[in-house]
Amino acid sequence: MKIEAITIKDNEKYLRQVSSKVNFDDKNLQNDINVLAEYCKENEVMAMAAVQLRIPKRLVYIKNTNLDIINKLQKNEATENEENYNEARVLINPVIIERIGLTDYWEACASCLNFVGHVKRPYKILVEYFDIDGNRHRDYFEGFESTVLSHEMDHLDGILHMDIADEVLEMPVEQRKLFRQSHPYNIVTKTGKYENLLQNDFEKKLAK
Ligand SMILES: [Zn+2]
Repeated sequence: MKIEAITIKDNEKYLRQVSSKVNFDDKNLQNDINVLAEYCKENEVMAMAAVQLRIPKRLVYIKNTNLDIINKLQKNEATENEENYNEARVLINPVIIERIGLTDYWEACASCLNFVGHVKRPYKILVEYFDIDGNRHRDYFEGFESTVLSHEMDHLDGILHMDIADEVLEMPVEQRKLFRQSHPYNIVTKTGKYENLLQNDFEKKLAK
């Protein structure tokens, strides 16, 4: 059976729920991860949060945060190997401990139809999470990884990229691919507290 992502058109309310913490006694956990893995294998996505696939648990699957490959995919120039590229990273109950720096990118989402949003994300995040064996990790996710993971972690709290975007456009996938070539991932700064940088940015806009 083909797995379909829930969209804002199907059931926005479902996507707005706060996902529950994963319990390691949960007998469905491996199956849930398989569903995520299967969907990501079959679709050109960077990552998915479980809630998008009708699994409202704090579970994120990361497929592709490799900007070189993503850029080739935007240009339809990826080789078969690159098309199948899969980091296959699973993060359970992830929590962001620290946000550093500022970037922006025109994000899209498997649940948000053709809406593309310009979103400011931290350049680097410190994340605490568990792997499938229940081991606790504390790792930095840097650069484009931080953008992708921040987007997915928002899903766990029912937040969509369109909610926090400063601009939203509607465009079909092929147009988005072209658009991203002229509007690539942008690093504003790699240092400083993200929350302060965002506040300064907001105040600058108000002063204009
Ligand atoms: Zn999304």
